[in-house]
Amino acid sequence: DTSVLDESGGESVKVALRIRPMNQLEQGRGDEQCIKAISDSNCQLYYKGVAKQFRFNAVLDERCTQQEVFMKCNIQELLDAALDGYSATIFAYGQTGSGKTYTISGVEERLAREKYISDDSEGIIPRATRYLWQIMAQRAEQFYVKASFTEIYNEQLRDLLNPASGILHCRWNLQNGFFVEDLMIVECTSYSDIQAVLHEGMRNRKQGSHELNKDSSRSHSILTAYLIGEQNIDGQIVKRYGKFSFVDLAGSERLKESKSQGDMIKETGNINKSLFTLGKVIKSLSDKKNKLPYIPYRDSKLTMLLMDSLGGTAKALMIACVSPSAAYYEETLSTINYATSTM
Ligand code: ADP
Ligand code: MG
Repeated sequence: DTSVLDESGGESVKVALRIRPMNQLEQGRGDEQCIKAISDSNCQLYYKGVAKQFRFNAVLDERCTQQEVFMKCNIQELLDAALDGYSATIFAYGQTGSGKTYTISGVEERLAREKYISDDSEGIIPRATRYLWQIMAQRAEQFYVKASFTEIYNEQLRDLLNPASGILHCRWNLQNGFFVEDLMIVECTSYSDIQAVLHEGMRNRKQGSHELNKDSSRSHSILTAYLIGEQNIDGQIVKRYGKFSFVDLAGSERLKESKSQGDMIKETGNINKSLFTLGKVIKSLSDKKNKLPYIPYRDSKLTMLLMDSLGGTAKALMIACVSPSAAYYEETLSTINYATSTM
């Protein structure tokens, strides 16, 4: 179960592909499988009998457990970097139903019932945060952890820990760079505190989409853990500020819908904007030959908020999630194209 993460490609963003198992509907219909892992870093996509091969930093097939995802993507290395004072991010990208939320957070119903310990259904957030508390206990520094949970819907920011605060604004200052004004940032003194943050945010995301008639597949959610390390070095307190963001992106099928009618244009256009800009930003960070004169962080809320977590010394992992079914061949191809174009 050690890391299989291929070190090639873009330095700042690694890309893994996760193929989920066929679900009951797909199995019941007798869908053909259109994608297969052929090694730890290669997959083949089939269309009308023709196979096309793609390379990723890691390929996780349908048999891969949640624990294996955590180990094989070397998420511990990202967490160690965050504890050392760097910024790190994990994104889940893919069409609705491809396994983004399952990968990032885990099975929601289980989370709600709080019966997730030693169960493979838990996703990256519970595994990562448990690891953080294990490592913090072993380190020389004293750590303080805080967390926030933000949603971006239609380029509007909301606080998933305090939905009553309505639409919040993105501001910039010298000390923090871009930040969400009035966002609730809660202190977490234990692993269970941050689980409570995850549950509360997921619950509010669901409830909010219900009450405001929002489609949660259109929203991006960002759970951020702020890691402040304090160490007494020769009588002087030295502080380090690390940050870890877990990002569950809007369904990628929204990227294509910009041709739809009426009210929808603005909404899909805006979702399009955050996903589209994220792709552009990551691509321009990894493309050393055709460097853009500037990186377009300011073109969307998502990339503004993640500006300090993309590029420079920051580390990021994108997990592109796909269904194996040939019924979604087009979506799977477009997910692969988006993901590999950022490598
Ligand atoms: P998304 O967030 O991309 O819309 P979900 O994470 O909600 O998709 O996944 C859709 C459904 O498929 C959920 O019921 C989820 O539990 C299930 N699922 C996704 N990935 C896996 C997997 N690797 N193994 C088992 N079930 C999965
Ligand atoms: Mg989801």
